[in-house]
Amino acid sequence: MKKTILISGAGIAGPTLAYWLEAGGFEPTLIEKAPSLRSGGYVIDFWGLGYDIAERMDLLAAVDRAGYRVKELRIVGDGGQRIAGFGTSVFQELTGGRYVTIARSALSRLLFEKAKGSSEVIFGTEIKGLHQDEGGVDVQLSDGTERRFDLVIGADGLHSGVRRLVFGPQERFEKQLGYVVAAFEAAAYRPRNEDVYLLYSQPGRMLGRVSLRDDRTLFLFVFACDPQSLPETREAQKAFVRRRYADANWECAAILRELDRTDDLYFDRVSQIRMPQWSQGRVALIGDAAFCASLLAGQGSALAMISAYVLAGELAKAGGQYQAAFSAWEAKLRSFVQDKQEAAVRFAGAFAPRTRWGLAFRNLVVNALAIPGLSRWSIGRDITDKISLPDYSWRR
Ligand SMILES: Cc1cc2nc3c(=O)[nH]c(=O)nc-3n(C[C@H](O)[C@H](O)[C@H](O)COP(=O)(O)OP(=O)(O)OC[C@H]3O[C@@H](n4cnc5c(N)ncnc54)[C@H](O)[C@@H]3O)c2cc1C
Repeated sequence: MKKTILISGAGIAGPTLAYWLEAGGFEPTLIEKAPSLRSGGYVIDFWGLGYDIAERMDLLAAVDRAGYRVKELRIVGDGGQRIAGFGTSVFQELTGGRYVTIARSALSRLLFEKAKGSSEVIFGTEIKGLHQDEGGVDVQLSDGTERRFDLVIGADGLHSGVRRLVFGPQERFEKQLGYVVAAFEAAAYRPRNEDVYLLYSQPGRMLGRVSLRDDRTLFLFVFACDPQSLPETREAQKAFVRRRYADANWECAAILRELDRTDDLYFDRVSQIRMPQWSQGRVALIGDAAFCASLLAGQGSALAMISAYVLAGELAKAGGQYQAAFSAWEAKLRSFVQDKQEAAVRFAGAFAPRTRWGLAFRNLVVNALAIPGLSRWSIGRDITDKISLPDYSWRR
């Protein structure tokens, strides 16, 4: 009989895992707390091993169709004038054209479409309790049902419920990086700058604007904020952002008016998750649930997909012997992930510098990236993944 595996979370890691588990001969069930796939949110840069996995899932054409080729990063001043920036062709050169900017929700949907045909899928449901014994895991679901699975995998993101139930409270594993992020999309915003990522920043706060298809525009706020309890309701979150940007120049006043109108706001603190171990008995965590590297790593989705692919591969290789598979999987990925997390912490100061000096220095560095040889050297170090994807013998 096939081993049954419950996956909690249908974001990036969850559907990728479901797809590859089925290819490895397992029977996956995917449950998602939200009533349907999450839409809106923010855009991500996508390349490297994540892109390679998308190719192995036959998704490249669709990813490229849904994605954007941003040509320039432009830092603007109070009046919208260019004060620093560089052409992003260096990313295309270094990755051989395998680099795309895509809405997180679009990537999630493409992965989900691939997985859903061969997995049981349950929306609007989450795990309320679980108990493991030698033969399996009994799971209580929020719809009132109880089921038993061979394994349970938490792919439920930064605020993972599986992590809390099995490993303990989030505070034990969370490293707050001292920033808050908010993002939303608006329709028919003007001005537009096609294929340009505009960034307005002042000490301790930045605001990005990206023009999307169908006359939509994405706005991304990142601002320094010492750890404290953040507002939870949408209106209170909007008010929190508004206060932080009320006296800022550039297009801030117009963008804050758009913020007032939106009913789909992504709002969270910028944090990493660092755990001594990614599994306990028959339960494991993947993606942000296990090792969120934060938006500052610029590669969280790829890491989520890599952890899913390698976990499914190791389980298939070990014939379902989960202890052996979990150990091999973690041994393959732990130091790779740790390096990405450390790089993200180093980058934090450059992303939204807290002082005028920091800002001036960051702009100098950004301008230096316009120098071809220098950009290849400095970006090249961080853009290349230091491991390669293992090949497993999949059923398909
Ligand atoms: C502003 C921003 C910019 C980013 N930029 C990039 C980038 O440029 N490149 C990049 O690669 N990455 C980027 N990332 C990171 C990337 O988005 C994440 O690392 C990635 O989405 C992690 O995938 P995941 O599947 O682990 O978690 P998620 O994508 O967060 O998915 C988790 C899923 O679990 C569901 N869920 C939550 N709780 C439960 C529960 N209790 N039960 C069931 N389901 C639950 C959620 O609804 C969601 O569908 C960025 C992140 C942010 C915030």
